[in-house]
Amino acid sequence: MWRNYCQSCTLPPLERLVRSTGASFRRPQGLYISLKEKGKILEVLKNWPERNIQVIVVTDGERILGLGDLGCQGMGIPVGKLSLYTALGGLRPSACLPVTIDVGTNNDRLLNNEFYIGLRRRRATGQEYAELLDEFMTAVKKNYGEKVLVQFEDFANHNAFELLAKYKPTHLVFNDDIQGTASVVLAGLLAALKLVGGTLADHTFLFLGAGEAGTGIAELIALEISKQTNAPLEETRKNIWLVDSKGLIVSSRKGSSLQHFKKPWAHDHEPIKGLLDAVKAIKPTVLIGSSGVGKTFTKEVVEAMASLNEKPIILALSNPTSQSECTAEEAYTWSEGRAIFASGSPFDPVEYNSKVYVPGQANNAYIFPGFGLGLIISGAIRVHDDMLLAASETLAEQVKQENFDRALIYPPFYNIRKISAKIAAKVAAKAYELGLASRLPRPKDLVKYAESCMYSPLYRSYR
Ligand code: NAP
Ligand code: MN
Repeated sequence: MWRNYCQSCTLPPLERLVRSTGASFRRPQGLYISLKEKGKILEVLKNWPERNIQVIVVTDGERILGLGDLGCQGMGIPVGKLSLYTALGGLRPSACLPVTIDVGTNNDRLLNNEFYIGLRRRRATGQEYAELLDEFMTAVKKNYGEKVLVQFEDFANHNAFELLAKYKPTHLVFNDDIQGTASVVLAGLLAALKLVGGTLADHTFLFLGAGEAGTGIAELIALEISKQTNAPLEETRKNIWLVDSKGLIVSSRKGSSLQHFKKPWAHDHEPIKGLLDAVKAIKPTVLIGSSGVGKTFTKEVVEAMASLNEKPIILALSNPTSQSECTAEEAYTWSEGRAIFASGSPFDPVEYNSKVYVPGQANNAYIFPGFGLGLIISGAIRVHDDMLLAASETLAEQVKQENFDRALIYPPFYNIRKISAKIAAKVAAKAYELGLASRLPRPKDLVKYAESCMYSPLYRSYR
């Protein structure tokens, strides 16, 4: 059933939901806040019929799934993500508020469509954009207090990093594209270590794609290694390399193609253009695709990984399936059955040389519903990176020997509500440990408490 709803950032049904919430608008499913409401956002929030809101998922529609700028038609994303909060994390539907902020769109097809429901103008940027977002964030805190979780979703990366950095110190904010992705991928890597041996610090990582997903994952890996080894973060970043559309990110790179979020990854090396050459030069043990461009892990690239490593870890995260860096079958056959593979989009099991391999899906839905539940049941007032690490470790622990036997590095999804409760408990425990929890006293058994707080989407029997 869950498959019908989500796939981290792209399942066709979610895509359909997105498309249907704009082009054939029938009824509002969430709250729209537009530039026209500047100065009145608090009033607009007060119009929402439910008072007791625990989670807001907000988008500005600029980078919806792999579909790009959908303006106001991006509402399907907050609605879909909050459905997952309820189905997988047990949040009450009435406590969930989907919000789309309308600052215009740069999508000409929409601007020229007479049925487009949003503002007919190009996107606000700079001060105009920042002021609207700031008014929204201030109004949210005023109306719902300190403990409402604001999840940023599908903002373009030029705004996403800044919004997260700006509101992290003052609000309970979480960006699923950056932090949720990082946590679910780190979980897969921690589980993969059971198959390949060693610790994270023994590995060399190469990314194709240095945006929200790529740099978010890279930073969380560096942080985990730094916690495990007591080495400074600047040191642990050195084993992590990223390639973007211009090639390997290196210290000699200057100018606008070295955005601030790429700077920590600009290590000393001669410039390299292509991925294959980067693989040969960097000799990674782990290759992660997060560029959104399909078919980039070619036979040569996978063979190079397999010649460098007994068990190469290959994660093809780009969505949807057509954009996957390679298929599961390609990863297993080109590596002669040695690859530890997971992907962003789902792939069926593969039989190779009479053995069945089950590719894992690095789906954000493993993490964010339980993560949010943990914040809410502890009354957390801020998100801390240690909570993301705790969520990753908890998810990795759910992978059992029978899964590993099939080269699977994620647990099966049918247990997801139990997994969510465990993640929630560990996140809540961190919140208490860090002095960020406001729900006192701390419940003794946090797993039981998390389970007891979960809403079940079941009808009562009146017979
Ligand atoms: P993003 O912020 O737009 O970043 C995309 C990155 O890919 C940029 O660094 C871009 O380079 C680079 N890139 C684009 N074309 C390239 C090419 N031909 N060769 C090399 N690099 C190229 O996007 P994002 O949010 O990180 O998402 C990226 C992909 O990850 C999407 O397909 C998304 O669906 C997927 N994703 C998967 C999961 C998951 O599996 N759980 C979660 C989140 C996202 P420049 O910086 O030079 O422009
Ligand atoms: Mn997303």
